[in-house]
Amino acid sequence: MRRRRIVVKGVVQGVGFRPFIYKTAVEKGLKGWVNNTSAGVFIEVEGELVKIESFMKNLKSSSLPLLHIESLEWEDMIVKGEEKGFEIVKSEAHDTPLTLISPDVATCPQCAAEITRDWDRRNSYPFTNCTNCGPRFSIIKELPYDRPMTTMSEFKMCPSCQKEYEDPMNRRFHAQPNACPDCGPELWLSDPDGKMIESKDPVNEVVELLKKGKIIAIKGLGGFHLACNGFSEDHINELRSRKNRPFKPFALMMRDVETVKEYCEVQEAEEALLSGPKAPIVLLRPGKKIMPSSIAPGNKRIGVMLPYTPLHHLLFQKGIKVLVMTSANSSGLPMIYKNEDVFKELDGIADFYLFHNRDIHVPVDDSVTVVVENEERIIRRARGYAPLPLDLGWVGDGFAYGPHLKNTFAFSKGGKVFISQHQGDMGNYEHIEHYRKNRNHFKKIFKFDPKFSAADLHPDIPISEMARKEDSGLYEIQHHHAHIASCMAENGLRKRDKVIGLAFDGTGYGTDGKMWGGEVLICSYENFDRVGHLNYIALPGGEAAVKEPWRSALSYLRESFTEDIPDELIEVDPMKKKVVLQMLKTGLNSPKTSSMGRFFDGISALLGIKYTSTYEGEPAIALESVAIPVDGEYSFELVLTEGKWVIDTKNTVREIVKDIKNKKNIGEIAGKFHNTVISFSLKLCIMFREKRDINKVALSGGVFQNEYLLEGLCRKLLEKGFEVYTHKKVPCNDGGISLGQLAVAGARKEIEDVCSSTS
Ligand code: ZN
Ligand code: ZN
Ligand code: FE
Repeated sequence: MRRRRIVVKGVVQGVGFRPFIYKTAVEKGLKGWVNNTSAGVFIEVEGELVKIESFMKNLKSSSLPLLHIESLEWEDMIVKGEEKGFEIVKSEAHDTPLTLISPDVATCPQCAAEITRDWDRRNSYPFTNCTNCGPRFSIIKELPYDRPMTTMSEFKMCPSCQKEYEDPMNRRFHAQPNACPDCGPELWLSDPDGKMIESKDPVNEVVELLKKGKIIAIKGLGGFHLACNGFSEDHINELRSRKNRPFKPFALMMRDVETVKEYCEVQEAEEALLSGPKAPIVLLRPGKKIMPSSIAPGNKRIGVMLPYTPLHHLLFQKGIKVLVMTSANSSGLPMIYKNEDVFKELDGIADFYLFHNRDIHVPVDDSVTVVVENEERIIRRARGYAPLPLDLGWVGDGFAYGPHLKNTFAFSKGGKVFISQHQGDMGNYEHIEHYRKNRNHFKKIFKFDPKFSAADLHPDIPISEMARKEDSGLYEIQHHHAHIASCMAENGLRKRDKVIGLAFDGTGYGTDGKMWGGEVLICSYENFDRVGHLNYIALPGGEAAVKEPWRSALSYLRESFTEDIPDELIEVDPMKKKVVLQMLKTGLNSPKTSSMGRFFDGISALLGIKYTSTYEGEPAIALESVAIPVDGEYSFELVLTEGKWVIDTKNTVREIVKDIKNKKNIGEIAGKFHNTVISFSLKLCIMFREKRDINKVALSGGVFQNEYLLEGLCRKLLEKGFEVYTHKKVPCNDGGISLGQLAVAGARKEIEDVCSSTS
């Protein structure tokens, strides 16, 4: 006889682990108990040693889909011999919570089947869930994860649900959001004046309205969506005009994988993501059947997800095949998730509203991901992914505020980095308020106690201004250093490692006060040396040039042609053009930038592809989508200027102009342009490998969402024997900046601590 105490940590709550432990212990005839605490799952078992060992083996090899064991520790204890059986004891809060919170999980196949069965008591019930699926992170107010600590606390389980909840052999044993039509949340349909529309079947009503071309605000798992018919060009354009969103792609929700395969090419890895428990939006290549072009104009891929709540499943069972499902917000504001906010914010946008009364405590957007060369690369990390942490063993307990655009923040504790769900752009008061709320929630539930903090070096973005007000000992981190450190951290590079970092993005504030974005940095976690960059050009009008990429095109032309600037290639209002040329001449309101993003924008405009940009990256995305893989490239020079190797693009631009004038195919020009970027990147890496004896290359920054560039450059680098590091688990865009800020600040803090303790 033995007694053993076992502590299991990881994603162990709300994943059906306790029922599994119970069943296994009973099977083995072991006595004792299991207890769910905010510090992990605690077990004590008593019985024969072989049985205990086989019990532990079963725990480790459990195939529960959502269980993720981080550690399993045990010690032998004195045999008590007083227990009659095995029991599940009440959860208790604990001082040092290291328990991870499960993200929200897409409806499991069993639950999806139940709602379609006529005789099932959950037939057509839109809030069906079990221990393997349903809401988690978005409804949790506090740990430990138990019903009273969630937004389900106000629903009292009926006797049938209670029975399931208490039956260790039931799939709903301790399923905290367990509910049924008798006792759980409800749906209702409302008109824009807030008047409830009487209906026995609001879902059916919504389906009819969608078929008629109406735009419906639908409350989901992590917030509201705006939905409309995905087949109708007219309805989609109507939604675009009401949302004031002319071109930015809309995500689609399709009935099932078979439907997705009709309209898109679906590889194995993509299918697994679509139908897995995370159920993100997967960017797919179009297939045989054509979808309306207004869904994702100028994009090579379209974003598709599958139904991930019972409500979604019900909508599609009633005859719908494809819906546009876009996050509901009025332009530029955070996603709406509270019933009381929706009428005001969607005034004039939605025709009808489908509500429910299960509150969303934490708003979570849909995640966006893509499979490139058979590997998943996350683009927007939120539902299904956050708040699961990444391991970064060496980093102390800290906090990173994150960037201005595509913000995420990050906390580290016990060597793990908890990156928040996507927070959006921090441009206005509403976003900052929303951010503060989410940050406070993270801090509270995980009991974070950061010993240092980090923010972007930029002197006047609101998020960094807030950071400086709150924290006196703040580490201010250069944006592109953070990009490369993020890539190093996600790939588990060690503390003393050095890489050749290529940070290509829109813009970030540089240590020389200029706007950077086409950077070659020799990086460690704590430091960087800017050894090369794209040539500086003027940005006439600053921010205005981001929205009007033809301004960048003119600037590149002026930079590349000493006389007879071929500005006739830019077909815009002659008066506007004259003003911009004048600005370029005088340098008035024309800050300098080395941004790779603006280089792509400028070439996109020069080729007449995009003169204006309505969302971040639009001109570059359109340029990539027309690019034809060809051989050949344009020439460029690498010039040593003030100790840095500058990529001189004068010849590139001149040769592109020549090709345009010779009426060469635009797609081929775009292809040759991409080859040129690959070529100078490769050349720089080879040069710095020789100079610095570094063989590791890290690629980061939003420009690397460009598949032509990423695949082409990776292939060339690998051919030349480099170790290449890219982003997969964390976005290469600014969504990954918070991780990099934490890594840099953590490394600096450690060095300072060592210095102060030895002096
Ligand atoms: Zn389920
Ligand atoms: Zn019930
Ligand atoms: Fe960036």
